[in-house]
Amino acid sequence: MNNKINFTKENYLEFNDFNDVMIQTFGIGCSLCYESQISFVLNGHPKPIGTLIKEQNKNLTDNEVENLVKKPIQDWQAFEDVNFEKQTPIFLCDECWNQMI
Ligand SMILES: [Zn+2]
Repeated sequence: MNNKINFTKENYLEFNDFNDVMIQTFGIGCSLCYESQISFVLNGHPKPIGTLIKEQNKNLTDNEVENLVKKPIQDWQAFEDVNFEKQTPIFLCDECWNQMI
């Protein structure tokens, strides 16, 4: 943790992804310590992928899931890249959150 990190408490929301799909499937983690337990996410983020799948409200084939998530994965990647440049963590675990606030 260093002072260069760009953090404003008000810019964060609770992170809720249905079935923790992004953590389980894509292996995302806290932007600062890489812990796979994420409690907060930077505002303005794309829709969490698990929630997106859940909202389809039907059983999707692997192929359908793949098509559905292709663009959102790119959106998340872009969101991550932009904020990485700005030294802004996009995911925070409880522990890092408590150290930042
Ligand atoms: Zn952390």
